[in-house]
Amino acid sequence: MSENRLKISWSSLSRWELCRQKNFLVKQGLSAPGKDVRNFLAGNVVDSVQKTWLDNPVGNMIDLVDEHFEKAIAKSQEKGTIKWRNKNDKKKIHTNCVNATASLQPILEARVLPYDYEPGKWFNQVVKIKDQNTGEIKEVILNGEFDLLVREDDDQFVVWDLKTTADNDYWKKTVGQLTFYDLVVYSMFNQFPKKTGLIQPLCDEQVKEFFFTDRERAEIWSRISAYAHAEWVGDHPPKKDNVGCSFCEVQHSCAKFKRKLFS
Ligand code: SF4
Repeated sequence: MSENRLKISWSSLSRWELCRQKNFLVKQGLSAPGKDVRNFLAGNVVDSVQKTWLDNPVGNMIDLVDEHFEKAIAKSQEKGTIKWRNKNDKKKIHTNCVNATASLQPILEARVLPYDYEPGKWFNQVVKIKDQNTGEIKEVILNGEFDLLVREDDDQFVVWDLKTTADNDYWKKTVGQLTFYDLVVYSMFNQFPKKTGLIQPLCDEQVKEFFFTDRERAEIWSRISAYAHAEWVGDHPPKKDNVGCSFCEVQHSCAKFKRKLFS
């Protein structure tokens, strides 16, 4: 089968919706090196701790934090991709990792360990979309990674996504992502998951479940289709406003900011 099949992940879809030009340039590998990973550090550490512990769930998960934390920092410092905000920043993030992990273990013991599960489950799922311009049915690959895919005793699936945020409203930004995962599970197993959800140990509501309707599924499908159609016609203009452009990792290659030295 052709290697030219369009690949769509949740992050590429959301980036495309933010700015088509940015998504196009990032996919060309034109991101400036050295993107600061400080804001992702706690999430990456707790996710890595979770994966390791679920592979062999004995002992206290919290005992794994220091090793994973130091390893993640060493890797970022080697590449020069971490900028601390102040002298207490590292300690603060470490404390967040410890607190999140301490609350996470009992949640996993109750919601995951009793069932079949796979942490860090990658997917590359082929779906078919009609090209509105040519009428041709084309294959598109939905790709990405579920933090945790669980099959409960009734043979139904549950997708869990781990968030280390302490923002009680953060879930509002994740609904599209979870609906995307819901569609992927349908494509993989010919059945929708019985639910999807967030495990957010630092929030007041540590486990938040979602049950999507056909209307919500149709909505995410039309967003995926809109992305595919635009890519097929090569439509990727820069966005009109400049919000966030000064922090954009592909600004140096962006058509909107290119200056001609000589005319
Ligand atoms: S600089 Fe702004 S307009 Fe250009 S690619 Fe980045 S986000 Fe888009």
